Amino acid sequence: MTGPVPVPTPATTPYWEGAQREELTIQQCQSCTQHYFYPRPFCPYCNSDDVVWTPVSGRGRLLSYVINYRPTPPFDAETPIVVALVELEEGPHLMSNVIGVDPTPENLPLDLQLEVTFVERGDLKLPMFTPLQESAR
Ligand SMILES: [Zn+2]
Repeated sequence: MTGPVPVPTPATTPYWEGAQREELTIQQCQSCTQHYFYPRPFCPYCNSDDVVWTPVSGRGRLLSYVINYRPTPPFDAETPIVVALVELEEGPHLMSNVIGVDPTPENLPLDLQLEVTFVERGDLKLPMFTPLQESAR
């Protein structure tokens, strides 16, 4: 799968380092215990700066999505892309891609159970999501 290679920033470097280990890591506030995403130095719930990076389950559900049938370069223009909003089990929402299924609405019911998978691109591994296998439920 082709596409742009993200550029890590100081705020997101731990996220990409986790992905390199094939771990989905997000931040969790030590004051109020909320997980949150996208990366920020202060908890969005209570403004505490007592926040840590922590691995999460990598499981979530499909909240909404669009199918981009005509991706523009650097994406492969022939391959439709599912751009999805995923709600992690821990609560935060993140934008990602759903792969491993034909990109049709029939295959993408809302609330579909998903699990993270990692796709190499450039020097990075990108967290993407694939339907949770029945045997893993
Ligand atoms: Zn907090």
